[in-house]
Amino acid sequence: CGIVGYIGPKDVVPLIVEGLRRLEYRGYDSAGIAVAGDLLNPTALDVRRAPGKLGNLEAVLRDHPLHGTYGIGHTRWATHGRPTEENAHPHRDGTGTLVVVHNGIVENYIALKNDLIKRGHRFVSETDTEIIAHLIEDELEKAAASADKTPDTNNEANSAEAILTAPPSTISLEEAVRRAVKRLTGAFAIGVLSAREPDKLVAARSGPPAVIGIGDGEYFLASDVPGILHHTRDIIFLNDGECAILTKTGVTFTDFEGVPHPRTPTRITWDP
Ligand code: GLU
Repeated sequence: CGIVGYIGPKDVVPLIVEGLRRLEYRGYDSAGIAVAGDLLNPTALDVRRAPGKLGNLEAVLRDHPLHGTYGIGHTRWATHGRPTEENAHPHRDGTGTLVVVHNGIVENYIALKNDLIKRGHRFVSETDTEIIAHLIEDELEKAAASADKTPDTNNEANSAEAILTAPPSTISLEEAVRRAVKRLTGAFAIGVLSAREPDKLVAARSGPPAVIGIGDGEYFLASDVPGILHHTRDIIFLNDGECAILTKTGVTFTDFEGVPHPRTPTRITWDP
C-alpha cells in the first residue's frame, strides 16, 4: 500500500518510518522495513516487521535497532494472506540477500509459485509478493548458470540459439528485476534491494503509482508524493513499463527491455 525507499547520507530508518507515516492516510494492516549498507557490517541486510500500526514497528526497531545507508519500507494492505508478521513486507528471496516490497496483486502467482516450488524454492509466507523475490533470485541464478556453461556442440542443451541468447556473464540486479517482472501478470509497483549489489535500489511499475524523488546527493522512492515531498520537490512519476535504478550518484530509467528512458523531474509546487 505505502512504499518509501531511500539512498543517501541521512539516517535511513527514521526517514523511512516518517515517510510511511505521511502515507498512513491510505490505510494499512502491517508494516516493515529492510536496511542494508551498515558501515560496520557492509554485507548485512536486515528486516524488521510488525502487524498493526507503525507504532508497533517502531517498538520492534527500538528493541532491535537497524543501521544502514539505504533501505525500503512498506505498509501493507493485505490482499493475499492474513495481516501477520510473516506476511508483512519486505519479503526475502531464498538466499536471504535480496528483498522486495510490493503494491498491487500478482494474478498468476499460483502458477509461478508451483513452478518455483518444483524447482526447489521454499516459501515462508502466504503472499503473492514473496514469489517476486524468488523470481528475481531465479533470474540471477539462471544467468549465472548459463554464464558458467562452456559451449559444447555435442550437447543438445547448448543449441546454437541457447549459446546466442546466453548472457556473457552474470546479470545486474536491475536486469534480473526486469526479467522477473516480465513474467508477472497483474499490477505492481515494487522496490528491490540486494546486499550483493550494495548501494542500489531498483523500482519497477505496472499499474499502482510509484514516484522517484531527486535530492542533493540523496534519492527517494515512494508510492506517492506525500511520502517524500518534505525532502524534495523534484519528482519523477514512473510510467507503466518503466524501471528506475537509484544509486548514490543518481537515478537512471529504462523500460523492461533495458532500453534507457531519460526522464527529467517535475517541480511540485503544491502541498499535500
Ligand atoms: N498483494 C500484496 C500482499 O497482499 C500487496 C498488498 C499491498 O498492496 O499492500 O501482500
